[in-house]
Amino acid sequence: MDESWAYEEGEGWIEQVHDRQASYPWSWSMFLPSSGQTEGSELDVLWKKSTQKVWHIKCDCCGEEIPYVWSLPTKDGQIPRGGMRWGDDESICNDDGTINKERLTDSIYYECQKCYGKMPWSAGRVAKRNIDGRYVQQNKDGDPKIDFYNYNAIAHFPWPDLVMLWKDASAERQRGSLTGIENFIRKRLAEPWDEKKYVSTDKVPEACGGYKRGDSWPDAKFLFCTVDVQQDHYYWRIRAWAMIDGKLQTRGIDWGKALSTGEIKDACDKWNIPQGGLDREVGCRVFLDGNYNTAQVRRICAENGWMMLRGDEKKQFRHKDGLYRMYSPIQYVDAWEGTGAGNQLFVGQFWFSKLEAKNALALIRSIRDPEPAWTYEDDAGPVYEKQINAWARIVRQRKTDGSEFYDWINRSPHDDHLADCEFMQVVCASMAGLVGVTNQDNTDKS
Ligand SMILES: [Zn+2]
Repeated sequence: MDESWAYEEGEGWIEQVHDRQASYPWSWSMFLPSSGQTEGSELDVLWKKSTQKVWHIKCDCCGEEIPYVWSLPTKDGQIPRGGMRWGDDESICNDDGTINKERLTDSIYYECQKCYGKMPWSAGRVAKRNIDGRYVQQNKDGDPKIDFYNYNAIAHFPWPDLVMLWKDASAERQRGSLTGIENFIRKRLAEPWDEKKYVSTDKVPEACGGYKRGDSWPDAKFLFCTVDVQQDHYYWRIRAWAMIDGKLQTRGIDWGKALSTGEIKDACDKWNIPQGGLDREVGCRVFLDGNYNTAQVRRICAENGWMMLRGDEKKQFRHKDGLYRMYSPIQYVDAWEGTGAGNQLFVGQFWFSKLEAKNALALIRSIRDPEPAWTYEDDAGPVYEKQINAWARIVRQRKTDGSEFYDWINRSPHDDHLADCEFMQVVCASMAGLVGVTNQDNTDKS
């Protein structure tokens, strides 16, 4: 079965296939060659019942049969020895910070998890180890009718390329996207994917930045103003973003509750935030939430040179270049449509994935490298803190197969406007190419 995990949200399809097969006298075998299942899913439950035959090779040093592992799971807060090893950034990078593949290749080896011996890499050595390799049943009580075979890319894929993929995926994670890591775990390591291992649900510590509201930040590359629209007032948030030495950094600049759009304009003017609407020369970095009172927000945007963001349930949006992003391509909407006013003025509008924006913000807020990447002003105040923490990430179970997934609950539904502003900030940073740039969607074949 190809990419079995991609189908697993169906309703018990594997059991159905199995039932059908079980009525035949022969046993059922399944290769899970290059795709790991979702932890706790139907496929994962079957794997746990199965024979769990895993590809083993003999260690060059001690001769023991071992499966290749990328790294062993943490034990008592420590990562045990054994697995893929390569040189540190300083020794494998060029002066400009890019990876020197020759140096990387020279530094790579596999550390035996039994004797800690070094097993060097070459295509020939890997092939030779495979000749002496075999599948070893891991589950002694496994149902012989559910015969599962598993191997990972370490047994057949060039190790330097694997490390490059891993480093790309890790960099993508630092920018707020787990897609690269998920693809690596599922497709290269053929291991179960468990998102919970990569995002913490613990309460995020107060991200006090050591600066005050209204302080400027010389390192800022982009300043965006995002605005949540209520019936007769607005909440606005100005946040600065930068990429420093390849690491994402973002600071709160100021926020406020405004009773008129003029107050928002003043705040944006103070920070020289471009408000040119569709004028490419000037640009626009002010975005209003357009899901409430859409027609009115369009006109406000048209009058002030701002743009509109609209949250949607979709997970991602396909762009002309074939890449998937958390926001849609720009749409041009007539601000005076349906008014019979006779004048026509177009406003830029983008849809965005509410879920992806929330997930990306949670991920960015959890980055410590060692300092937090996402911070806010020391004097942002209790109103701000209450609102940005209105949404909580929780674990839910699927009814179909009992597998777990992340969801969000709103703990104070009428008091989450600044959280909406911060989600929109992440969308803006994504548009600027700083956050969650996903080069592949989850269904691509490799
Ligand atoms: Zn060994």
